[in-house]
Amino acid sequence: MGEIKVVTNILNSNNKLTAQNRKLLDEKGIYVINLMSSPGSGKTSILEKVILKLKNDLRMAVIEGDLYTTKDAERIEAQGIPVVQINTGGACHLDGNMIKNALESLNLDEIDILIIENVGNLVCPAEFDIGEDMKITVLSTAEGNDKPLKYPLMFEKSGAVILNKIDLIEYTNFSREEFYNDIKSINANAAVFETSCVKDQGIEELCVWLKSQIKLKS
Ligand code: MG
Ligand code: ZN
Repeated sequence: MGEIKVVTNILNSNNKLTAQNRKLLDEKGIYVINLMSSPGSGKTSILEKVILKLKNDLRMAVIEGDLYTTKDAERIEAQGIPVVQINTGGACHLDGNMIKNALESLNLDEIDILIIENVGNLVCPAEFDIGEDMKITVLSTAEGNDKPLKYPLMFEKSGAVILNKIDLIEYTNFSREEFYNDIKSINANAAVFETSCVKDQGIEELCVWLKSQIKLKS
């Protein structure tokens, strides 16, 4: 029983902090995306492409979650937008306290859209609300089409699913048909995009949709 209590407390305190973060972000009119996936599916590459297309129309900022390094944050910084690195020191997801600290380093009066790249992990990031307006999950073709059924929570909670590395699909046994059927059964409302960062495919459609979502909120 003791252990169960500890877990409950952690979730309660996360929910409290996250509610405060969300209130602040709402007051500032910032649209927040929680970008999740397993390691290596291409979150940062998609972010780079999206930033390139949207940064002239929208004031963007990024929070980068990473176990130990600043590699991804350096790539985002090169795009000339504000970025804050959170090193979780081994923790496998971001939580409300980490986001609270990161928000203190950003000028919230100058941001329209904040994208939070979560730690690469298909399991627990989906369990922790971090104050986002929308969760987006990235899956790459190389990972296999069985992942939505094996890790359903992340896909269930996402407003959009991005199937990345679509240029590699012919070299894998990824079944588009099974993938679309499974997504439909888990989360019929999810928008699905197919992208390739190498070939610059699907990024435009994704950006048009993102803009429409931001407008819906404001
Ligand atoms: Mg990354
Ligand atoms: Zn975790």
